[in-house]
Amino acid sequence: KQVRASGSLSDRIRVCVRKRPMSQKEVRRKETDITNVANRRSIVVNEPKVKVDLTRYIEQHSFVFDEVFDEAANNEDVYRRTAQPLVESIFTGGKATCFAYGQTGSGKTYTMLAEQTGLYVLAAKDIFTLLELPQYSHLFAWVSFYEIYQGQLYDLLNHRKKLFAREDGKQQVCIAGLAEFDVDNVEKLMQIFEYGNQARSTGQTGANEDSSRSHAILQICLKHRRNPKKVEGKFSFIDLAGSERGADRGETDRQTRMEGSEINKSLLALKECIRALDQDSKHTPFRQSKLTQVLKDSFIGNSRTCMIATVSPNSGNSEHTLNTLRYADRYV
Ligand code: ADP
Ligand code: MG
Repeated sequence: KQVRASGSLSDRIRVCVRKRPMSQKEVRRKETDITNVANRRSIVVNEPKVKVDLTRYIEQHSFVFDEVFDEAANNEDVYRRTAQPLVESIFTGGKATCFAYGQTGSGKTYTMLAEQTGLYVLAAKDIFTLLELPQYSHLFAWVSFYEIYQGQLYDLLNHRKKLFAREDGKQQVCIAGLAEFDVDNVEKLMQIFEYGNQARSTGQTGANEDSSRSHAILQICLKHRRNPKKVEGKFSFIDLAGSERGADRGETDRQTRMEGSEINKSLLALKECIRALDQDSKHTPFRQSKLTQVLKDSFIGNSRTCMIATVSPNSGNSEHTLNTLRYADRYV
């Protein structure tokens, strides 16, 4: 049994874990729930193992994070302790970012981009409320929504147009021609989201491009009414590609292998950038992947980031669950 030291090194980054409930299918298959949220900060995985002489035993793995949500937590609970504390910072020029990381089926999309209750909707409600205050009447919100698939950017709000990121003279990364829509209420935002979401899984090349192989990035920018070129603050919601897609599973199909290594590269680069943020490092290796490049301003300056690692509860997914927790563990 191993327990690691805890505590944030920096308040610019928080790492949380969310366990989803057992699905009906898992219950019907008589799988067991092997993950236990011991308290608000720790999670234990009881990994079933078999010895060479075929005796069975349980190996316990304990992890400590800034916050751990059990299967009873709803999106409101998660929102209140992850994204909500970051909302105000974007009104003073800050960049806020929330990532959902985890295996396909563990609850990334449910947490980040679910209709009505996803963190992006809950944050937007608060953003629109704050925008009504007189001291913020000079600000206006814009939304963009794009996807990174195999290191290439696609605009989900503009017929999956290929986009290119450039670094300007001031070392700011911008995506040329990215579609942006002004929004001032949740209904309109959800309409735009839905439109973009339909463009997600059905790429031009067809069936292969399911959403677990791409990173989806939804951003709400605040801009000055009189100077809409300049971004005053930004909140990014990122539904990452399924973490198991990056693993080397001895894939024989060349396309799948290439996708896997691209996803792996970007998730490793993300971990490096978050580590740099955590350690207040001068050097952030954001150029190592398209994902970290387009999110450069999430890792430097006035930025705050929350990583939500989502895990499945069932025994059949123990390996993926452990991989996710090890990835999210900031001391590894
Ligand atoms: P991912 O995006 O990581 O592949 P999803 O968000 O699509 O996973 O979740 C997989 C399934 O589990 C969906 O049917 C979703 O509704 C359900 N689910 C995920 N998290 C929760 C949760 N916390 N509570 C209830 N259902 C959940
Ligand atoms: Mg998903």
